[in-house]
Amino acid sequence: MSGESRGFLAPAALLPDGWHENVELRWNGDGFLTTVKTRSGRSGSPADDLSVGLTRLAGPVIAGMPNLHSHAFQRSLLGRVQRPDPGDDFWSWRRLMYETVDALTPDLVYKLSAWTFGEMVASGYTSVVEFHYVHRPGGAAPAESLNAILEAARTAGIRLTVAPVLYRWADSAGSALGRQQRAFYLERDEVVALAETIRGSAAALALAPHSLRAANADDIHFLVDLAGRSTPLHVHVSEQPAEVRECRNNLGFTPIEWLDREFGLNPRWGLVHGTQATQTELDILDSGRPTLILCPTTEHDLGDGRFPLEKAPSANWGIGSDSHVSLSPAEELRTVLYGLRASAGKRAVFEASVMSDGARLWQAATSVAPPVSGWPCGELRVGAVADFLVLDGEAPDLVGLTPDEMVTAWVLSGQARDLAEVRVGGTIVSRRGLHENRGRLDADWRQAMRTLRG
Ligand SMILES: [Zn+2]
Repeated sequence: MSGESRGFLAPAALLPDGWHENVELRWNGDGFLTTVKTRSGRSGSPADDLSVGLTRLAGPVIAGMPNLHSHAFQRSLLGRVQRPDPGDDFWSWRRLMYETVDALTPDLVYKLSAWTFGEMVASGYTSVVEFHYVHRPGGAAPAESLNAILEAARTAGIRLTVAPVLYRWADSAGSALGRQQRAFYLERDEVVALAETIRGSAAALALAPHSLRAANADDIHFLVDLAGRSTPLHVHVSEQPAEVRECRNNLGFTPIEWLDREFGLNPRWGLVHGTQATQTELDILDSGRPTLILCPTTEHDLGDGRFPLEKAPSANWGIGSDSHVSLSPAEELRTVLYGLRASAGKRAVFEASVMSDGARLWQAATSVAPPVSGWPCGELRVGAVADFLVLDGEAPDLVGLTPDEMVTAWVLSGQARDLAEVRVGGTIVSRRGLHENRGRLDADWRQAMRTLRG
């Protein structure tokens, strides 16, 4: 943006080792941080700041939240899948999702994804891993659907990682896909072609067997080989009891245990959900080797259950908004915290710390991102991307609080309007909960929804 400074002075910033005051942040033209340092002495006075060309911000800075699991088009299901039908469960939700997929085209995928990505940014997510499995909407070629996702992220100004999902089977016994799953089907050589396109784009690449029911052992070995030593790997695991039983019957182990025995899990593995994890699987997660991706509001909305984080306190975990019943990272963390408190029957669920619960959860969920995102995101340090949020120190809910208290107040009760700025690669994408491109995003979304609901 013309005239915009590529640096400023934050009154406080949450850095990898905790809170610091008077932090100078600068970034280069490619959007990577080049300076993150605490200024000593009398820094902070307006005259001093001007002398080094820095604007002083009106509130504290925290790293933007990486959204580690998204199916962007699923936001269009909101309101239609929350039915008070006593027989409603995950599988009936899935049938309704399939009906929407039947009506999609690449143009609708673009419009739905662009708005959803835009709302994510306005709410505090600065990057997203799109777990992309609708490869043939309306019978289109997989390349067209991928381009719709890439274009949507450009319009929304969000940092993107795309996982072109391998989805080949209806269950882990190898049953053929049903009619409504045909839009998901991908040959292995098509995954290779999509991966090449992504590598040549502005997005990062992740590889993803959909789940141990939709990809078999050979498929997963194929993707792990394709991933080499640095590409992230994402997979849905242990989401439903029926899926865990099937996996045990067909592969001899539950999903997380099978993956660990077969591949030796590490932080590049993003294991999504884990809600039905057995004790053996909890022990694997608690080792801190794989990255657990919790999607708390989706898991609660679907009645899947709650991941018992108190039983794997050393797990490395981040968050995803998955079906997008909520697009707010604060709400995901709030759900995690309330789950821990309700389970423990007390408010103090962490070891004593100088940081309050909200800041602590924010730090935990952002810092795990790089190996599963493919971007150096989630931390304010030199070399990382300049993706961050500026809290509005004058917002009614935040005024008069310390920076640490502000983050917790925002996580527990705040709204997107409390975010004075959201920046991706140093560029302002949203102010006070309003996306810079909202006119176009909203108009496209409305048109898409009229088509889908018409
Ligand atoms: Zn998912």
